[in-house]
Amino acid sequence: MTLHIDPARLAEATSGPRRYQMLIDGKWTDGEVGLEGERVSPGHGIVVSRYAFGSEADVARAVAAARRAFHRGPWPRMKAADRAAVLLKTADLIDARREEIARLDAIESGKPISQARGEIAGAADIWRYAASLARTLHGESYANLGDDMLGVVLREPVGVVSIITPWNFPFLIVAQKLPFALAAGCTTVVKPSEMTSASTVVLGEILMQAGLPEGVCNIVLGTGPEVGAHMVAHRDVDMVTFTGSTRVGKATVQAAGATLKKVAMELGGKNAQIVFPDADLDAAVDAAVFGAFFNAGECCNAGSRLIIHKAVAKDFLAAFEKRAARVKVGDPLDDATKVGAIITPEHLKKIENAVIDATADGATVALGGAGLTSAAGQYMTPTVVTGVKPDMAIAREEVFGPVLSVLEFERVEEALRLADLTDYGLSAGVWSRDIDTAMTVARSVRTGTVWVNTFMDGYPELPFGGMKQSGIGRELGKNAVEDFSEAKTIQFHRGPRTSWWVED
Ligand code: NAD
Repeated sequence: MTLHIDPARLAEATSGPRRYQMLIDGKWTDGEVGLEGERVSPGHGIVVSRYAFGSEADVARAVAAARRAFHRGPWPRMKAADRAAVLLKTADLIDARREEIARLDAIESGKPISQARGEIAGAADIWRYAASLARTLHGESYANLGDDMLGVVLREPVGVVSIITPWNFPFLIVAQKLPFALAAGCTTVVKPSEMTSASTVVLGEILMQAGLPEGVCNIVLGTGPEVGAHMVAHRDVDMVTFTGSTRVGKATVQAAGATLKKVAMELGGKNAQIVFPDADLDAAVDAAVFGAFFNAGECCNAGSRLIIHKAVAKDFLAAFEKRAARVKVGDPLDDATKVGAIITPEHLKKIENAVIDATADGATVALGGAGLTSAAGQYMTPTVVTGVKPDMAIAREEVFGPVLSVLEFERVEEALRLADLTDYGLSAGVWSRDIDTAMTVARSVRTGTVWVNTFMDGYPELPFGGMKQSGIGRELGKNAVEDFSEAKTIQFHRGPRTSWWVED
């Protein structure tokens, strides 16, 4: 792999490292302890951002501000239409700053700029969808409890919500949580990944400009142990919504259990694309390349396992490798790039080691296999591992890099068994023109999403989330605002009380 990184592109995209502060109670602030962070661009090898990092004391300040805004501020009591107006204004301001935000995500995470632009546009669309749902949240009434009784079930905001997000889709993932929490009338403390915090800070600027009252969205920057863990443990937080690794997700659920907080978890995946011989194989090849290498495979939804019918395996893989070899790997700021940089040198090492371990287990590297580390960051060639057997780690564990594991099958039941063999259950793809086959697979696999003759499309209208160890709950979809609310039952009695517990 040869790389051409043009320093002029980076110079054009950033005027040197900006220092980002935290947003607490409507004010921009440094941390009480004075911790600092910085980000080296994974695709350029130079410092592109500096941050004021927080600690437990700043989490306490942010939670107190959110609590005050919840109990005494206007936001939870406002008309839904007025909350929706702030979300719509936010979406417009995101559109206006789209190029700037896309560049921040591309520079900090290493993802291709063309892809980042799509994610920012998608995020604005989700903010608009949340605004539309804000006005539909409603409770229920029961007039069938007897003539003297009326039962009313209100939907009240759950309270103060901690929102913790990962580095792979910085601006998109916060959009899957924050606008729905706000639409419900909650107040929030948000922590982006310590590696990709810039775009979330810009979102904070936008929210202030859009008229969000002070304390409703607080942003604390910093690491998981120093900030995230305290956002989970704090007694005054009512709910935690987390996207990240299954490992940290499990620890988060345990910690949240100490005070019985409501939790929503979007975790890892080891997703299969299952290809039958009667499929549109050209389309399936392209979707398999896309599924495996999109966002450099650093994607919870990555189609990191190809489960291919033996009858077509050889030709399919030949076509796959031809197409994969044409995928442009390189500078995240080059419009033509399809696969950008890997998030950190340590993560690249983990990806390379997963491939080395697979060969030690008896698998074969059919394409790629090695990374490239240079003064301009770290990159990984699209990689295909064949001859993978179900008991190998590469068949079961999330690699989170551009590495496809290939398993073969002959009968549908075998394909289903292979698809479900991991502890994950996030998503799957099935490729067949036969409706019986497609429906059998779609109904059988234990995943939160199944794509039939397509892969990794997303719509705010459709709920998204995982079964098994891929998560708890769903994001997006028509219940996305309700998920940030609690039911309160009120029973109204009218007229004289006719039955007494103790007779007079
Ligand atoms: P991570 O679990 O390391 O970190 C996620 C977030 O949690 C970060 O903000 C981090 O600072 C914070 N964190 C770390 N330790 C913490 C702790 N002890 N308490 C509270 N917060 C803590 O994950 P990552 O490496 O940033 O992201 C990659 C992972 O995210 C992959 O496993 C991927 O599959 C998953 N992911 C899932 C989805 C989904 O929707 N299911 C989407 C994107 C990414």
